[in-house]
Amino acid sequence: MQGLMQNAPLLISSLIEYAALYHGDREIVSKTVEGPIHRTNYRELNRRAKQVANALTRLGVKHGDRIGTLAWNGYRHMELYYGVSGIGAVLHTINPRLFPEQIEYIVNHAEDQYIFVDLTFVPLLEKLAPALKPVKGYIVMTDEAHMQKCTLPNAIAYETLIARESDELTWPVFDENTASSLCYTSGTTGNPKGVLYSHRSTVLHSFAVCMKDVLGVNSADSILVIVPLFHANAWGIPYGACMSGAKLVLPGQHLDGKSVYELLSQEKVTMTAGVPTVWLMLFGYLDQNPDAKLPDLQRVVIGGSAAPRSMIERFEKQFGASTIHAWGMTEMSPLGTTGNLLPKHAGTPFDKRIDVQVKQGRAVYGVEMKIIDDEGRELSRDGKAFGDLVVRGPWITAGYFKGEGGQILDKDNWFKTGDVATLDPDGYMQITDRSKDVIKSGGEWISSIDLENEAVGHPAVAEAAVIGIAHPKWQERPLLIVVTKKDMDVSREDLLKFLEGRVAKWWLPDDVVFVKDLPHTATGKLLKTKLRQDFKDYRFPGADAAE
Ligand code: ADP
Repeated sequence: MQGLMQNAPLLISSLIEYAALYHGDREIVSKTVEGPIHRTNYRELNRRAKQVANALTRLGVKHGDRIGTLAWNGYRHMELYYGVSGIGAVLHTINPRLFPEQIEYIVNHAEDQYIFVDLTFVPLLEKLAPALKPVKGYIVMTDEAHMQKCTLPNAIAYETLIARESDELTWPVFDENTASSLCYTSGTTGNPKGVLYSHRSTVLHSFAVCMKDVLGVNSADSILVIVPLFHANAWGIPYGACMSGAKLVLPGQHLDGKSVYELLSQEKVTMTAGVPTVWLMLFGYLDQNPDAKLPDLQRVVIGGSAAPRSMIERFEKQFGASTIHAWGMTEMSPLGTTGNLLPKHAGTPFDKRIDVQVKQGRAVYGVEMKIIDDEGRELSRDGKAFGDLVVRGPWITAGYFKGEGGQILDKDNWFKTGDVATLDPDGYMQITDRSKDVIKSGGEWISSIDLENEAVGHPAVAEAAVIGIAHPKWQERPLLIVVTKKDMDVSREDLLKFLEGRVAKWWLPDDVVFVKDLPHTATGKLLKTKLRQDFKDYRFPGADAAE
C-alpha cells in the first residue's frame, strides 16, 4: 500500500524562499574583494538571485547547462548558488588554487557556458580564455566603478548584467533528481573528476548540517565560513544556513590570522569552519596578541585533514569553544562523520575526552559505513582493526561526471573512500591514513597521520609530515619532515625523545628533516605525492648497514 502524502520535490530554491520569508532580515556579511565590508540579508539575496536567474535565461542558459564560478566567499557567490541551481542549470564551482592547466581541463570537461569571476582571478582567466572553447562569455563579479579593462571575451560587470533584470520570478518546479551543482576533486593523482550533486542530495544533506549532533546550524548562529564555497559546497553550510536562518559571515580572499580574528570578534561569530592550516595561521596571530578574546565562539568545525590534538585543546582552553571534528569527501557532499560527544562522556576527564574528539567521529544519519579487508570482508568494530573505509547513502556519488573512472561502486553500492580507518564500539571512526600514504613496515602498518598529530603537539613545531621511505630490512620506515615555528628551534634528538611514549616504539621515525615549508594541495592538504618525489633519493643514515 502506498502512503498518501504529497510528493513535493526537494529543490534548492525552496531553501532561499524559506530564508527570505522567515529570516528575511538575517544578515549576510561579506568582506569584499573591492575592500569594504558589505551587509545584506536573505530577503535581498533571494531578490538578487532571481535577477541572476532572469539574466541567465536572457543569455539563453538552459536546464542542465553548466555555469562556472571562480570566486571567493562573498554575497555574489551566494546569489549564484541559488540563481544558477534555482532554474535547473548547474553551478560549477572551480577551485582557483588548481594548476592553470587543471582549470583549463575542467572548464572544457564541464563545458561551462559562462564563467562568473572575481576581480582577483581575471588575469588567470585572461591567460586561459583562448583555450576555454565552450565559454560564451565572462561575468566579472563587481560593479561598473570597479570594472577593469580586460581581454576576456564578452566580459560584463555582474551589477550591470543584473541591474536590467526584474526580480520577479516564481522558481520553476522540476524533478528533484535534476543536477544542481558540480565540483571537481582536486585530483592529486590523474585528472580531476567531477562530482555531480542533485537537488535532492543537497536538500537532504542540508537537513543533516542543521542537526544538533552534526553541525547544529541554527537561527541563533553567526557563522564564519572559512571553508571556500568552491570546496565541496563549503561543507553544505550555504544551504544549511538558509534552512535555519543563521547569519553568514563570508571572509573573501584574506584568510590570514589577523583578518580571521577580526571577523570572528567583530561579527560575534558563534560557529566557524575550516581546514587545520587556517587555524594554524590564526594561532600564529594569537601568539603575538595574547589579549585576544572571542567570548561568542562556541563551535569550531575542523575537517579536510585530521584535527591535531593540540588544536582541539587550544580552542577549548583559550576560548571555551568545542571542536567538531568532521570527516567527509567531495564525493560525499561532503559530510560523513562528526566527532560530537555522547551523554556517556559527561564527566569524562579532559584528556580522555580529547582522546574521543581526535577521532573523526560518528556517522551522520544517512551515511552507512563499514571497514573491510582486502577480500572485501567486513572487519570488527573494535577500535583496533583497521581496513578500507567504504560508504553509501543518498548524498554519496554513484559515479563521476561523464563516466570518468568507470564503475566506482561495488555490487551493493559501496563506494571505496580511499581512506584506511578503525571503527570503535561506540561508532567513532578514526582515519589512520589515506590508503596510499600508510607506511608498511615489516608487514605491519604505521599511521602517518598519528605521527604527524603527535609531532605538531611539540611547542616548536608548526607543521609536520610523515612519509614512508624505502628501507632494506623493513620495506618502509617513517621519515618525519618538520617546519618549526618562527624564531623557534628543536633538535632532531629532542623531537624524537618527545615522541617516545606518545607512539609505539616501533613507530618512531627513523629520522627527522627540517624544511622551510611543506607542499599543499589546492584544498590545503599536505601534498604527499610531491614530498615523496622530493625525497625519492633520501636514504636513512646507516640504513644500508642493516642489509
Ligand atoms: P580533495 O582531495 O579534493 O581535497 P576532499 O576534500 O574530498 O578532496 O578530500 C577528502 C579526503 O580528505 C578524505 O578522503 C580524507 O582522506 C581527507 N579528510 C577529510 N577530512 C578529514 C579528517 N577530519 N581527518 C583526516 N582526513 C580527512
